[in-house]
Amino acid sequence: MTTTRRDVLSAVLTAAAAGAALTPDAAGAAQPDHDQGDDHRAVPSDPALRVKALESLLVAKGIIDPAALDAVIDAYEHKIGPRNGARVVARAWADPAYKRRLLADATAAIAELGYSGSEGEQMRVLENTATVHNLVVCTLCSCYPWTVLGLPPVWYKSAAYRARSVIDARGVLREFGLQLPDEMEVRVWDSTAELRYLVLPERPAGSEHLNEAQLAALVTRDAMVGVARAAAPRGGATA
Ligand code: FE
Repeated sequence: MTTTRRDVLSAVLTAAAAGAALTPDAAGAAQPDHDQGDDHRAVPSDPALRVKALESLLVAKGIIDPAALDAVIDAYEHKIGPRNGARVVARAWADPAYKRRLLADATAAIAELGYSGSEGEQMRVLENTATVHNLVVCTLCSCYPWTVLGLPPVWYKSAAYRARSVIDARGVLREFGLQLPDEMEVRVWDSTAELRYLVLPERPAGSEHLNEAQLAALVTRDAMVGVARAAAPRGGATA
């Protein structure tokens, strides 16, 4: 007999509702391995099931509002998290010595700006140039540099992105609206729980006179994963 996702969730919900501690056996074959969001497994990890169970109960009892949860997640995905990475990129654009340190030892250089900790213990920064474009994926699950990018977007965790990025990187980039010249080399980097990557996008033309805060505003999450370029200064302004 196989254990289905529904069987497991039902068991967890029952355990959570009873206030019982969940043992690994209660989740059948679920065993933590590489990282979160492992949809290559038949059954989600224990923590994922516990979170889902708690969320379901809290929503059912009217204690939390799902829309509020979505707003929090959206903030970490799009606002708070990627702004840290954007400051790292802007500093590298503005300060050549910092850029050298960042490329030589990303973990230490990122920590200089105060960003370190879980899901960012070992970092490497990949520099995009006029001839090389870097793209980051986690083919196994969803390893992602939380300290500088926040939570991974849904598409980063999707089976399609994880599989197709390594088979047809240019095709995937085209679907993101990024058409690269044929002569540009595309390098695809597979993140792991041990080593996570941040793309240093090319500094846009026309940004020469911007200060660091203005530069950071040009740096998007997608540019730091490698599915987009940094934004051009608005109207080509240089002040
Ligand atoms: Fe992973």
